[in-house]
Amino acid sequence: MTTTGALARLRAGNAQAITVVLAREGALSRADLVRGTGLSRATVSSLVAELIEAGRVVETSERVRPHRGGSGRPPVLVRLSAPTGIVAGVDLGHRHVRVVVADRAGEVLAEERRVLDVDGLGVAALEQAAAMVHEAVDRAGEDVARLQAVGACLPAPLARGTRELDAALMPAWAGVDPEQDLARLVGVAVHVDNDANLGALAELGRGSARLVADVVYVKLASGVGAGLVLGGRLHRGAGGRAGELGHVTSVPDGLACRCGRRGCLETEVSTDRLQDLLRPVHGAAVEDLVGLAEQGHQDVRRVLHRAGQQVGRVLADVVTALDPSVVVVGGPLGRAADVLDGVRVGLRDHADPDVVGGLEVRSGALGERAEVLGAVSLALARVAQA
Ligand SMILES: [Zn+2]
Repeated sequence: MTTTGALARLRAGNAQAITVVLAREGALSRADLVRGTGLSRATVSSLVAELIEAGRVVETSERVRPHRGGSGRPPVLVRLSAPTGIVAGVDLGHRHVRVVVADRAGEVLAEERRVLDVDGLGVAALEQAAAMVHEAVDRAGEDVARLQAVGACLPAPLARGTRELDAALMPAWAGVDPEQDLARLVGVAVHVDNDANLGALAELGRGSARLVADVVYVKLASGVGAGLVLGGRLHRGAGGRAGELGHVTSVPDGLACRCGRRGCLETEVSTDRLQDLLRPVHGAAVEDLVGLAEQGHQDVRRVLHRAGQQVGRVLADVVTALDPSVVVVGGPLGRAADVLDGVRVGLRDHADPDVVGGLEVRSGALGERAEVLGAVSLALARVAQA
């Protein structure tokens, strides 16, 4: 390759890094782009000028955020020039399906949620999800012909390469190819990832980890999983299983887990387990653990705090190995102050003190919508790269 060719390729790669960050995060200042891409100020400035010249990026006054420094005018923001079309995000949880239809700027146009036995239904869950996508497109007043891509997540690791689910965890899904089967049902390209990975992507793009490069996102729900962001990129691991913290042993010889082993973290801190622990006292009211804790029920607060500590104990090893600057606790339990306090105690007691000293533990800003919004971000990123 000639030197000129190599430079052109490098420049094209850097331009793509800018458009990928803009697709993920919406309107940003040039200084945000320097932080988000790791490129130099001069490179960002000249590439943004080229992208504006080419009509791919426009300057905008929208969504001006408060900026550091106080005085002076707020910085001019740039965003991808609004392309036409729509995308959809699909979050298949263990017991629900959530669908969002959004425009190419990531603005939500319609949203649907349905309770569904996703684990047990297998491909039938995909059929229902596809029907929900079409309903949401209608509800948004849009035409399905304008749908360009669908991002989707599932609550189990997806094997790298085959994109198949771990059948040991989800037997009804054996032999199902979620990407191809959903694409056939919806009629456009589908991109699938693990739920915690997409939750991490959403909190990174529009939640409580904006412009943070090294993040551990842990989802605490009926299942437990983590999304690892290293140097601004999702780390999926050699086999696509990175972040499966729900199946780290927490109590040796503890309760039987759906993975076939015993005492996994998930058996101790899943919402199901915490509800089982509290049901003898609170009956059906334990569906709303966070609400009971906020009302000051001491037994609920104690159970949530202890669960947080167990999560913190497992996170301590991860945090010591990866040295992130932020841990985001997402899922329904991420809203519970007692869970977050417990996580901090678990980390303080078991992780390298110097790593913990520089670490912030934050509640997820997007709550139970993080995964579906991450699925929208995935669809937008893939359309932008096409
Ligand atoms: Zn397990």
